Amino acid sequence: MSANADLQMRRVAAVPRGVSNATPAFAARAENAEIWDAEGRRYVDFAAGIAVLNVGHRHPKVIEAAKRQLDAFTHTAFQVMAYEPYIALAERLNALAPFSAPAQTIFFTTGGEAVENAVKIARRVTGRSAVIAFTGAFHGRSLMATALTGKTAPYKTGYGPLPAEVFHLPFPGAASGVSVAESLRALEFLFMADVEPARVAAIIIEPVQGEGGFHVAPTELLVALRAICDRHGILLIADEVQTGFARTGKLFAIEHSGVEPDILAVAKALGGGFPLSGVIARRDILDAIDPGGLGGTYGGSPVSCAAALAVLDIIEEEKLCARASAVGEKLSARIASFSGRNDLLPVSAPRGLGAMVAFDIFSARGEDTPDGAMAKTVTNRAFERGLVLLTCGTFGNTLRILVPLTASDEIVDEGLDLLEAALTVEEASA
Ligand code: PMP
Repeated sequence: MSANADLQMRRVAAVPRGVSNATPAFAARAENAEIWDAEGRRYVDFAAGIAVLNVGHRHPKVIEAAKRQLDAFTHTAFQVMAYEPYIALAERLNALAPFSAPAQTIFFTTGGEAVENAVKIARRVTGRSAVIAFTGAFHGRSLMATALTGKTAPYKTGYGPLPAEVFHLPFPGAASGVSVAESLRALEFLFMADVEPARVAAIIIEPVQGEGGFHVAPTELLVALRAICDRHGILLIADEVQTGFARTGKLFAIEHSGVEPDILAVAKALGGGFPLSGVIARRDILDAIDPGGLGGTYGGSPVSCAAALAVLDIIEEEKLCARASAVGEKLSARIASFSGRNDLLPVSAPRGLGAMVAFDIFSARGEDTPDGAMAKTVTNRAFERGLVLLTCGTFGNTLRILVPLTASDEIVDEGLDLLEAALTVEEASA
């Protein structure tokens, strides 16, 4: 039996099917934008561990920083005996985050945890309970994050009761067919029918929906939400877990809009492959929380903080914000060339922001019926050819590209060639 097949058998027996796998092979090693499996097969990585490896697998500076920390100590628990890498990283993020007033940062481990804590902070500060999120949003798998997520199956169905006082607005855009004005009107109705503004602690939004299908939040929406939050004393939380750290061409995606959030939830790319998340907010907000109200045993692991400091250096030194824009243009230009071709499956135009680029697979040319099954077939065919590629979107018919920003033009082109091959009609329907 092959190494991958053997591992697959053990995996099926030992690990629940509730955690799904996008690919049938098992990783053995990885470098920048390439992964090798248990049988030595090489793959171009267009997933980056779900938007984690913006600086690539095992960036030498990340590894060096982590190794240095491993040789010093691996864990004390920040609450037991604090350490410099945590403080240094907080200082760096406080200076970089898009706040006009002094900011502070607290660290956790996962994106879901950052979201949970952003909500806890908003509730404690405002003394209010309700939170408003958007349809199609994804905020994590813990119970409050699940409640905030705007998609029932597979995330919410059967896991209730979920925390109360969570409401959803339609996310505007071409995909939902909802205009910004209609979305804001829905908010007015929500305020009239279900929850008065004085009971709302926060509105949470992804500046670009990630799992929901790479839909960019219109600037007009973000500006209007900012004004509504200001009018009613509601806090605006930007969930930058997937969009953060240069992916969209700016360090934080919300910066494209010029809108200043009250609270930022960050994770994924911050740790460069080590588990790390954080909440960055204005100091006057965070000051409202008494000692002991926030934290966690592993939050802000020293190894992860050391790695994250290297990540921020790399983003600066290698000008990864500019690189994300260039990679995004390359991806979009190539994907745009797919849509008019009869030898390829029917696809939409590319969309996204910076190097966060996606497109949809449709069931027939000239129609926009989503074809999630075909999108899965395409990712399987791409994988057989040597490309790790993920789907997303409400109907699972969106192909999303999250290539490391450190990938060379040659690797990006190679990945696009593999993607194009997987999209050919004969290939995909074989
Ligand atoms: N928020 C967003 C926008 C995400 O994309 C994700 C993960 N895909 C999360 C929160 C949850 O992060 P984690 O899986 O690290 O808990």
